[in-house]
Amino acid sequence: MDISIIGSGYVGLVTGACFADVGHNVLCIDNDPRKIDALQAGKVPIYEPGLEEVIHRNVSAHRLRFTGSIREGVENSQIVFIAVPTPQQLNGDVDLSFIEKVAREIAGVLTSYRVIVDKSTVPVKTGEKVATSIKRYNRHRAKFDVVSNPEFLREGCAVADLMHPDRIVIGAQSEHAIDLMKKVYEPFMAPILVTDINSAELIKHAANSFLALKISYINAVSAICEASGADVEKVADGIGMDRRIGRDFLNAGIGYGGSCFPKDIAAFITISEQLGVPFNLLKEVQRINTAQKERFLKVIRETLWVLREKKIAVWGLTFKPDTDDIRSSVAIELVANLLREGAHVTAYDPKGMERAREVKTIEGVAFAASALEAIDGAEALIIATEWSEFANVDLALVKQRMITPIVFDGRNLFDSETMGQLGFRYHSIGRASITPH
Ligand code: NAD
Repeated sequence: MDISIIGSGYVGLVTGACFADVGHNVLCIDNDPRKIDALQAGKVPIYEPGLEEVIHRNVSAHRLRFTGSIREGVENSQIVFIAVPTPQQLNGDVDLSFIEKVAREIAGVLTSYRVIVDKSTVPVKTGEKVATSIKRYNRHRAKFDVVSNPEFLREGCAVADLMHPDRIVIGAQSEHAIDLMKKVYEPFMAPILVTDINSAELIKHAANSFLALKISYINAVSAICEASGADVEKVADGIGMDRRIGRDFLNAGIGYGGSCFPKDIAAFITISEQLGVPFNLLKEVQRINTAQKERFLKVIRETLWVLREKKIAVWGLTFKPDTDDIRSSVAIELVANLLREGAHVTAYDPKGMERAREVKTIEGVAFAASALEAIDGAEALIIATEWSEFANVDLALVKQRMITPIVFDGRNLFDSETMGQLGFRYHSIGRASITPH
């Protein structure tokens, strides 16, 4: 099928590449000329495992192209996907101006029937507003259908998630649009759930809020573990072995971050309030998340006493491993707090440093060329992101290179007993702190 995708970021670009890989002709569109220039020159502007190969393979096969022109996309495709940002406004509302602008632009160049698919995460009832907006600016009175097709990919394994999705949700009214959407997804051989548009939109916010709730749940349990001497890893295993619950998303840590969870939970809270049915449970999810970050900082302060002039190494800046995405990363927030308190911070991240250099709140941080270089002469090491590179490090070497071997492990990468035996003072999440034997 001929498909265009407006917005070539983490969602749009990966979706476009994977659609092309199963045989569709795809035009990826973006209004950032640097992005389009880079893509046309064969450079992939984001890091996502496996993405570069898929893009190059499909560009060579002439199934994947890039442009800055929405007109070109709408003219040359049966289906137009929208994958532009839907950021959070200061009052918690979702900023839908990117969606509205694209809807207007599509309407302006619509001359015959197209299916307009919203893939961005949007509040329930946005589809209705998109349809109204397109109708208003539809100069040629062309026919169209609006579909909601929320995306569930996880950064860090987006290509695999796109190629082997758990489910495809198609929210639509028209049978014709549903048939076309089924054709788009047929090659993926995944279960397809067809719903009305409102339900599809709601599924995305409800799913992300539930995942964040699971994280906050185990983080709240981790505080109880620390207070009672229990081990959150064992508790999570014990809970997670129940198939009704599952072990996924029960990893205690320093709180959720990233470009989706914080904004999507805030959006769902606002949506529920606007609909007159406040979802207060989600406010508690947010509160626990904030408390978890503060608890971690408190342990750092209590252990190091004064942070001013302390040389602290931080491993990990991205919001999760296997991505270069640092948007709303808890690690960045942590580094900003340490710098504010006068610490000398040296950070290392396998993929996130280029983007981190641009972040104003962490101006003054030093960047190291490797994990080991970051800890040279450090008085403490903080692990903020669970990259496998950190889990596989030679701990004896780490101890040798630090001035005082104190580790704050925000991701429970290491075995507490081993750390004690090696001579580390070791603080992790939801497990007893270890002082050297
Ligand atoms: P992103 O910022 O990485 O990409 C969005 C792209 O849209 C950018 O390249 C931007 O330049 C482009 N853009 C903005 N306005 C445009 C316009 N008028 N015309 C053409 N291009 C335009 O964002 P993302 O992470 O891909 O997220 C996109 C949407 O998908 C959001 O609603 C997000 O919540 C949702 N989502 C994201 C993820 C994720 O893991 N990142 C997962 C599921 C859903």
